[in-house]
Amino acid sequence: MDSTRALATEAVHAGRDDLARQGLHAPPIDLSTTYPSHDSRGEAARIDAFATSGAEPDGPPVYGRLGNPTVARFETALARLEGTESAVAFASGMAALSAVLLVRASMGLRHVVAVRPLYGCSDHLLTAGLLGSEVTWTDPAGIADALRPDTGLVLVESPANPTLAEVDLRALVHSCGSVPLLVDNTFATPVLQRPAEHGARLVLHSATKYLGGHGDVMAGVVACDEEFAGRLRQVRFATGGVLHPLAGYLLLRGLATLPVRVRAASANAAELVRRLAADPRVTRVHYPRIGGAMIAFEMAGDPHEVIAGVRLITPAVSLGSVDTLIQHPASISHRIVDANDRRGAGVSDRLLRLSVGLEDVEDLWADLDRALTTVARPDRGAGPCRCAAPPRGATSHDAPAAAVRSATPTALRPSQTHPHSTTVR
Ligand code: PLP
Repeated sequence: MDSTRALATEAVHAGRDDLARQGLHAPPIDLSTTYPSHDSRGEAARIDAFATSGAEPDGPPVYGRLGNPTVARFETALARLEGTESAVAFASGMAALSAVLLVRASMGLRHVVAVRPLYGCSDHLLTAGLLGSEVTWTDPAGIADALRPDTGLVLVESPANPTLAEVDLRALVHSCGSVPLLVDNTFATPVLQRPAEHGARLVLHSATKYLGGHGDVMAGVVACDEEFAGRLRQVRFATGGVLHPLAGYLLLRGLATLPVRVRAASANAAELVRRLAADPRVTRVHYPRIGGAMIAFEMAGDPHEVIAGVRLITPAVSLGSVDTLIQHPASISHRIVDANDRRGAGVSDRLLRLSVGLEDVEDLWADLDRALTTVARPDRGAGPCRCAAPPRGATSHDAPAAAVRSATPTALRPSQTHPHSTTVR
């Protein structure tokens, strides 16, 4: 990030610096798939240069798969927010992860070390070896021992989908040595955490989530140094997982409100955490130390009945939209992961994942409370409430995020089974 401008300022201005000079206020949308040129020799030289370095071609664009000016605005803005030299956008988060794996495989580095849980499809991509990679699953403490001469990547999510387990990024970077660490920062967003500042070489987003923020764009992006970005652009050019310019426009617009959305939704989430933690129908609440708008909780009763019972909250996979979504990871987002691996990663069959939006928190609680009431208590397993006291200082739905963040570390106790997550019992 430009050290003279705060994140909220960059969110509104980055990627738009040239607009006033052009006499524009809103960014233009360039839908061209190709660009006319009478200078074939010049184009040949620019294509050769791209093949060598993967740098954005100088001068006019060549072809939509090499790069697009509207998408480039989003890439510039996201790189500023994450504090990296560059960013490369893709058609989805999975396309972004695939491109990273292909870059490393093309260098003969097919081995990946990864920490569970990951988003179900990321887990599946690695476990199934669909792109010819081989994965070693470990916990953060085991990373250094899991590295091999052919290890091309260490991969973590923090907070992780869906348990919200967190890792100490600085310690992890140290364990990785010279192997690039990729942090999937989808849940935290650069508003709450900038992994590159801790030494992570690659920061990945499913931009489908908070960056777009309105549930109407599918996209992925990798923020990184320019050398890695060049390789990613070359893979994107060769394999075709490009982002559509309209999506690039919507993402740039989404970034402008990202800090405001994340802080407001996080304040809502902190209040719901407080109420869920005090609720006897709920056996466990997971909420990250860094805060955020994602909550996971475990039920004494049948979680499917909560999904069936909500009316205001949308029962749907995905997250990070202005409206609140709930889903059952064992049935949906993590269904594709082997049940034993899933449970071993802390994704219990009773776990529900809530992506908290911008509605009034009282309306959200009324809907959740009603849905929880419809759940029949099982004969066994619904013993007396073992909830900890709700986190102090995280009670107002319009409390500033700083208050939420500073309140959570001391108020929430670390989980027994997942030493890096924070759990309210
Ligand atoms: N990473 C995380 C943490 C996710 O939650 C998801 C999707 O839910 C992805 C990556 C994949 O992103 P996409 O659905 O945009 O391909």
